[in-house]
Amino acid sequence: MAKIPINIATGSIQQDEIIVGIDLGTTNSLVAAIHPDTKKPIALKEIDQQSMVPSIIHFGETISVGNDAKEYLETDATNTIYSIKRLLGRSFDDIKARKDFFSYKIIDNEESELVKIQVEEKFYSPIELSSLILKELKNRAEHILKTDVSKCVITVPAYFNDSQRQATRDAGKLAGLEVLRIINEPTAASLAYGMGTTTQEEQNIAVYDLGGGTFDISILKLSDGVFDVLSTNGDTYLGGDDFDKVIFDHFISLLKLDATFYNNKEAVQSLRLLSEEAKKTLSTKDKFESTFQDSNVHITKEEFDTLITPLIERTIAACTKALADSTLTKKEIDKVVMVGGSTRTPAVQKMVSDYFEQEVSCEVNPDEIVSLGAAIQADILAGNTSDILLLDVTPLSLGLETMGGLMDVIIPRNSKVPSQASREYTTQKDGQSGIEINVYQGERDLVGDNRKLGAFTLKNIPSMPAGLPKVQIKFQLNADGILTVSATEVRSNTKQEIEIKPQYGLDDDKVEQMLMDSMQHAKEDIAHRAFIEAKTEAEHLIDQSEKFLEKHAELITKDEKEASRSQMQQVQKAIESKDKDKIQLEQEKLNDISRPYAERVMDKAVSAALSGKDIK
Ligand code: ADP
Ligand code: MG
Repeated sequence: MAKIPINIATGSIQQDEIIVGIDLGTTNSLVAAIHPDTKKPIALKEIDQQSMVPSIIHFGETISVGNDAKEYLETDATNTIYSIKRLLGRSFDDIKARKDFFSYKIIDNEESELVKIQVEEKFYSPIELSSLILKELKNRAEHILKTDVSKCVITVPAYFNDSQRQATRDAGKLAGLEVLRIINEPTAASLAYGMGTTTQEEQNIAVYDLGGGTFDISILKLSDGVFDVLSTNGDTYLGGDDFDKVIFDHFISLLKLDATFYNNKEAVQSLRLLSEEAKKTLSTKDKFESTFQDSNVHITKEEFDTLITPLIERTIAACTKALADSTLTKKEIDKVVMVGGSTRTPAVQKMVSDYFEQEVSCEVNPDEIVSLGAAIQADILAGNTSDILLLDVTPLSLGLETMGGLMDVIIPRNSKVPSQASREYTTQKDGQSGIEINVYQGERDLVGDNRKLGAFTLKNIPSMPAGLPKVQIKFQLNADGILTVSATEVRSNTKQEIEIKPQYGLDDDKVEQMLMDSMQHAKEDIAHRAFIEAKTEAEHLIDQSEKFLEKHAELITKDEKEASRSQMQQVQKAIESKDKDKIQLEQEKLNDISRPYAERVMDKAVSAALSGKDIK
């Protein structure tokens, strides 16, 4: 596969290939792209079909995905896989409480390992299963766009952890897609409303996402083109399926069906589907009527609203929690974005709007919105939009050299750009007039293994005892990837700064290599850092002890002095042996020897102070 050059500082790709945006949903998945003529995002669909691909896979003589697979939910339940997103990056331990939710077989022998699904004689990971859905979307996109599609942006819920995000990436890879970026679903939804496309605006956005089986509320802060997730809340087992269920139960009682009805799986499934149809009808009509097994079934919008009110109230409770966690008030929310098919239900819109005390935004199709936002992000990455600020992160950590050649990270890897951070340092020696600042990039613990970006010296620090100057070092990384490092001695206001371009001369492969190296050397790096820290501390102790012996010479016996000095030599020897544990052991012994006379000296100092006299 050919490598395409990516400018990591800007994230842009110099080429014309279409990059698609994918919403890999629990219930439905979609693929979208920017229309070459209108430049507007569109969810891709075959003629006469819908843009949504049900996230369902059926294993029969052949493997089918989407609508074709949905039919088998009724007739071949054990071989029909749904809601696979719930299992992505999860161990059996994570999901065992909800095991009964799944009608297919989940392997439960290795509880802490990632889950596997058994279909007849074969075993599948959720990554493999998700890749089948992605593959279907890729095929669909290629068929409609009439070109190869090999790159994409995929969305995930804001609360997805690293393992779930990695699993999503891997699923893409397995489907033959290079996943240029994983972005948060609420961020994608905001992008679809055109937010985040200018630099000036600052907005607080609530994204209310009620899908088929899950509910998420996310509070985002948008400033300088960067979306910050302030808080998330929700219920991973609450959604449109539960709306179907209340209608289903309503029909069951109307029809006076007894428990034996549940033995007929096909009948159960078709009543479920009829319930969903009723629900969708009630989004635009006041009444639904049909027949089931030759009997009449009906439900009014009023009846439905009453039945689902407690369910919607649960989502409102989650909104209250998310709002509290974000420390914002309802008044500070500038926009409430509605996402997910279930927000088409009018009662949902009304209760959410009542709660936030404002109109909610549901103009963008709630089924498609997340995929549309993903397509916009893909277009930004393709470098097709010049006036859009990029939502980017630093690929490598930025920091400076501290004692013993250790890397002190100031801006960690994956921090959002723009970004800034500062830390305070001080001098080591009395009267020290300058501090050398060496700036590095990389993940290794020793600066020697990282990439040096630049250096400068903060000069003219006024003469002060060691430890008294306050030197504040500030790293500022702007949206263009330019790093400004400044050093200020706060007491005297002495200041110095440099500008660096961290990505200069660094390509994708190099970044990858540096990350690989850091993983490979993680263990020895940690050990080495521990040694250097122990060494620095021990050297400091020797220094302090010698000073103490000299300063309080008349209060310390000859024996004590000798014992101390000989133990100081042992500490020195331990340092030379490079054995961290030995250093700590010998250091402890030195402390044991000096403790009695140090206490004596302190007592003396205290009584002298009490009697108003001064001691040396
Ligand atoms: P997910 O994000 O979980 O993949 P979606 O956002 O696609 O899910 O939402 C699917 C849910 O939306 C289903 O429960 C479906 O029944 C419901 N839904 C779709 N259209 C409507 C409608 N017109 N009225 C009410 N609910 C709908
Ligand atoms: Mg969704």
